[in-house]
Amino acid sequence: MIPLPGTLVKTDDTEIGVKTTKKSIYGLSVRPCFADLDVDTVVSVLSDSCIEFLELSADEIDFFGNWRTRPRETAGILEDAGLKVWSVHGPRTGWDLGNAEDALRTKAVEISANSFAAATAVGANVVVLHCNIRRPDYPESGFFEHMARTRRSLETLAARAHDQGIRIAVENMNGLPGRRPGSDVQDIRTLIEDLGDHVGICFDTGHSNGAHMPVADQIRLAGDKLFTLHLNDTGGVFGSDDHFIPGEGTIEWSSVLQALDDVQFQSPRILEVKNRIGPTAAMDMFRRVIGLVHQWDSDLDGDLVQGTHV
Ligand SMILES: [Zn+2]
Repeated sequence: MIPLPGTLVKTDDTEIGVKTTKKSIYGLSVRPCFADLDVDTVVSVLSDSCIEFLELSADEIDFFGNWRTRPRETAGILEDAGLKVWSVHGPRTGWDLGNAEDALRTKAVEISANSFAAATAVGANVVVLHCNIRRPDYPESGFFEHMARTRRSLETLAARAHDQGIRIAVENMNGLPGRRPGSDVQDIRTLIEDLGDHVGICFDTGHSNGAHMPVADQIRLAGDKLFTLHLNDTGGVFGSDDHFIPGEGTIEWSSVLQALDDVQFQSPRILEVKNRIGPTAAMDMFRRVIGLVHQWDSDLDGDLVQGTHV
């Protein structure tokens, strides 16, 4: 593996997973939960919690004190509070990596690649990329051509990421009518094959459930390519993307946690839960997330029986 700045160094604290009673490490995707809350508020709430890692959005909007324009300063503020950026979510406008119009596809590639420098500077371990956007449907007949175009985009992005010294993780997509590329982890494995050790998978549990895929089996399929997570729940309707707190939807979490143990997942477990109400609801949602994390960890405090985390 190429040496990468910002790569999490494994310590005793991060040796978690299979047949261990050591606690997991956790992270939170900031924007879906806290939205427009200011940096000081978010940092003070997080620094008092068991959340150690953050995912920041690279959307070109005024988010988290415009961190993209001052990534080193942002990293310093977080470090002072005992926090660290684990992942950066690539910008929304850079998601259409399989667009049939070459000019639009290459524009999406450029926008995604433009987030790499800030991600590296803020000390992130990995940039998460979506491989396509939500459309009314993805006709089955266009599946392989769409995959081929996406592959071309990812070849460029893999090279650019390598140049910047950052890892990239392609996220599994929600289900849509027809056959949406990337809604099966096998598609992602095909798309990233042989692109390098710095290219892997971000597994979103809610997308998988919303695509009616077997969530735990998909984690095992991601296996050694599983770089990072978006843990969240959905109500189980095909195409739903609720980003509920785990346990508040239809995903069977004991099997998900078991699958993470099975693939010896040792990176921060990033929760990507969405507050759709407002700032006051954000704090309530965050408290419920912390309650869940404590519940998962307290199940590890006793004699861990495999598969009985929840
Ligand atoms: Zn996600």
